[in-house]
Amino acid sequence: MGYNARLRVAICGGGIGGLTTAVALSRYPDIDVDVYEGAEKFGEVGAGIGLFPRPWGIIKKLGLEQDLLKTTDMRPQEGPVTSFRYRISDRREGLDFYTLVTNGNLLVFHRADFQKVLLRRLPKSCKTHCSKRLRSYTQRRSGPIELLFEDGSTTTCDVLIGADGLKSAVRRSLLGEKAQAAQSERRVAEVAAINAAVDPVWSGTNAYRALIPAERLRARAPNHRVFTQPSQYLGKNGYIVAYPISHGKMINFVAFSSQHNLENTTFGGPWVSPTNKSEFESIFNHWEPEVQALIDCVETPLRWAVHTVRPLGSFVSSRVALLGDAAHAMTPHQGSGAGQAIEDAYVLATVLGHTTTTRESLGRALKIYDKIRRPMALEVVERSRLNGQYFSLYTGSQDFSQLAGRVLANELQALGDTFTRNWEWAWTTSPEAMIREALRMLES
Ligand SMILES: Cc1cc2nc3c(=O)[nH]c(=O)nc-3n(C[C@H](O)[C@H](O)[C@H](O)COP(=O)(O)OP(=O)(O)OC[C@H]3O[C@@H](n4cnc5c(N)ncnc54)[C@H](O)[C@@H]3O)c2cc1C
Repeated sequence: MGYNARLRVAICGGGIGGLTTAVALSRYPDIDVDVYEGAEKFGEVGAGIGLFPRPWGIIKKLGLEQDLLKTTDMRPQEGPVTSFRYRISDRREGLDFYTLVTNGNLLVFHRADFQKVLLRRLPKSCKTHCSKRLRSYTQRRSGPIELLFEDGSTTTCDVLIGADGLKSAVRRSLLGEKAQAAQSERRVAEVAAINAAVDPVWSGTNAYRALIPAERLRARAPNHRVFTQPSQYLGKNGYIVAYPISHGKMINFVAFSSQHNLENTTFGGPWVSPTNKSEFESIFNHWEPEVQALIDCVETPLRWAVHTVRPLGSFVSSRVALLGDAAHAMTPHQGSGAGQAIEDAYVLATVLGHTTTTRESLGRALKIYDKIRRPMALEVVERSRLNGQYFSLYTGSQDFSQLAGRVLANELQALGDTFTRNWEWAWTTSPEAMIREALRMLES
């Protein structure tokens, strides 16, 4: 890191959140950036990543639009777009019941492509370091922050950004600082709440993810709905999402199985592991033929035990800030985890890049970031959780298996309206107001 820079920023974690922050900071030539990635090389696990119009607005601001669009056949559309068709499917004969119309479309990318675009846009002045897994940091009242890595090496920075995902080491250290402060003032209940947020908790839901070659599905079901229409198949305690990616060559498939009563417990077993097909086949074996056709084409699904981070009382501690999953890992039921990480990245870069922000005023800048981003991100966490309940028909006393005919259709229509109202922030609001507010606070 150069010592003449206005600020020396260390970003811990080179996932979508960390790299977007590095790209957003590259617009400020007097800020030095180092990205420390724990893995041996940059690489995204998983397949598709969907972005709604709101985070896409940020992508455009960062000038990443054209590079990203080169990786897909999809094109941003304006105005009303049919985004998903919904069926109730936990029965022998399924039923189409709802069409989700969004304002602008959900753009889907391959995760690895997305990351490559971000990496290509990093300026030479931004240094990336792989195999640098942070163990902890130390910050004192003044002076640089010290970073300690798992390999025993150390470095320093003025600002540390924890973009190190669900199991964030930065979050562990940051909450350690907060717990110590609360302890010294004998705020006992607060200490317990802070400590409870260090480790992620299981959401009670497992996601079985797979990529289905379109040819394989075509051989099994030549006119399957998912070739032409992103679809969600809902049922009691689970649901399935399927849509085409990679120029239509692949179908991105995710099947969710939920035990809502186990939310916020500890998951016994590996959080991500290949699973044998019979485990998830048995969950959906009573579902309609259209679903069976998809399941028949899945070979070895990857089982993700979906974990979340309990709502934090703050995303910052003095000159350290958390973003993305490190700050607010959420369930994937609104397809918004990466989108929220992108919003964090942009706002954080805006407050750090602002001419009023110096080494001395960093604390204030990060507090503005926290004030702007935390309420929004935590609201999305809750909305995503609720969508998970709606999609798995976990709606209080209503038992959909006992309904039929017009009554069933009416109740399902009401359910569709409910999850749409809960979700429409993603395509009816823009990030502009949030960015204006951050600037207003910086300048006031
Ligand atoms: C099934 C599923 C589907 C999803 N679908 C969508 C979707 O459609 N749209 C959407 O917006 N979101 C979606 N998400 C959520 C999205 O994937 C995450 O919210 C997003 O990837 C978070 O990005 P991040 O950069 O914060 O964290 P990560 O992507 O987890 O990146 C963290 C990085 O930090 C590194 N790291 C970890 N520990 C350390 C350490 N100690 N030191 C240094 N580096 C470290 C990791 O190797 C990794 O590279 C989905 C999630 C799941 C599980």
